Amino acid sequence: MQKQSIIVLGAGESGVGSAILAKKQGYDVFVSDGGTVVDAYKKTLENYSINFETGEHKLLYEYTPAMVIKSPGIPDKADAVKFFAKKNIPIVSEIEFAGKYTDAKMICITGSNGKTTTTLLTYHLLKTAGFNVGLAGNVGVSIARQVAEDPHDYYVLELSSFQLDGMFEFKADIAILLNITPDHLDRYEYKFENYVASKFRVIQNQTKADAFIYCKDDTTMSVWMKDHKINSSLYSMSIKENASATANEQELKFDIAGKKENIPTSVLTIQGKHNWYNAMAAGSAALLAGLSKTQIEEGFKTFKNAEHRLEKVAVISGVEYINDSKATNVDSVWYALDSMTTPVIWIVGGVDKGNDYSVLESFVNKKVKGIISLGKDNSILQQLYADKGKLFYSTNSISDAVLKAKEWGVSGDTVLLSPACASFDLFKNYIDRGNQFKHLVKSVSNQ
Ligand code: ADP
Repeated sequence: MQKQSIIVLGAGESGVGSAILAKKQGYDVFVSDGGTVVDAYKKTLENYSINFETGEHKLLYEYTPAMVIKSPGIPDKADAVKFFAKKNIPIVSEIEFAGKYTDAKMICITGSNGKTTTTLLTYHLLKTAGFNVGLAGNVGVSIARQVAEDPHDYYVLELSSFQLDGMFEFKADIAILLNITPDHLDRYEYKFENYVASKFRVIQNQTKADAFIYCKDDTTMSVWMKDHKINSSLYSMSIKENASATANEQELKFDIAGKKENIPTSVLTIQGKHNWYNAMAAGSAALLAGLSKTQIEEGFKTFKNAEHRLEKVAVISGVEYINDSKATNVDSVWYALDSMTTPVIWIVGGVDKGNDYSVLESFVNKKVKGIISLGKDNSILQQLYADKGKLFYSTNSISDAVLKAKEWGVSGDTVLLSPACASFDLFKNYIDRGNQFKHLVKSVSNQ
């Protein structure tokens, strides 16, 4: 019998991983990437004798594949995607594909904010407790590659809505939905309900034997859940009312599947109310996976979060500098400002995604002493905050921004880079923005 073929679109981490797994499963694989491909990935494909093209999508059209595996960065409206969709060829995500070739338990984490933090924390809890666990999704090595080369008993997966949109039969054993606030609406025809539906795909195919950890305090989620039948076993989180997991300044309380455990909030290495939610979610998943209270507490104590998320950079002449460059929407800035206990010099701006800043108003009034608007186009922030009786400065240079912050700051203040906007007007990405900020702050400290 002739081998079935698979087309993989995109030759990054996700595409190359998918190609390796497909090859191992006996498919005739062809990888097509319209742009340039990192040399290391080209080498890997060559080592596995996988055919590929780069720079344009051309040869792929000669195939009639059984399936197309699409990397999350490639939009549905790309010509190559439309071409195969028209022929009714299934187009799936890497996670959907990998899920067919493993019996491992899947802990899947999604939400508008907090995905990476919660994924890393959950992974850390399981790993330090001695579980054979892999980290994948938007972070780490692709799950398809791990399934092919280094299989695990558990996977902790960060799922963006881009990945969820390409998932159909996949089932999470434990699904976590942290929160839903408007983001990436451009991909969902500017319809919030489409984005919400995409996030809830994390529980598709679940049965009573599977767990759904959700946030009771999130109004959007509560409304959706009232209107839809959910088969999963439900575990709630709240900082306002009774729930399976609750949190306050003193303790995190879990009442999960017959286990009642209290853990002091002070053991957490990540600050702010938003991180209480992330810790409740990770702790709930860990309890469901069978970890003890001691193991969870130990993991909480030793966790180190990824950079650019409320990351403490330095204290210079009594002024604390915090890099929250990953805060690319208003909701994450809300939590950043909420967690501030000193006067704040707030560096904000970039590519505005239609932000509604009014939800930040009371924080800005109470906590912010100066605003530095950093972007190519600062007109929105200028209109909102200039002439409002606060220090205001507009610039398109991050070094100017840091110098101005230094000029304004007095001992006891905090300089917070928490932009509420995307970064690509002035930077490669949020990592570049955060790294430049950190570098400049450190050079200021040497002056
Ligand atoms: P994601 O992977 O969903 O983008 P991250 O963990 O990378 O989430 O955090 C992104 C930004 O959102 C950071 O600025 C962080 O401080 C903030 N954040 C983290 N967790 C939450 C949460 N549960 N709710 C709101 N904001 C959060």
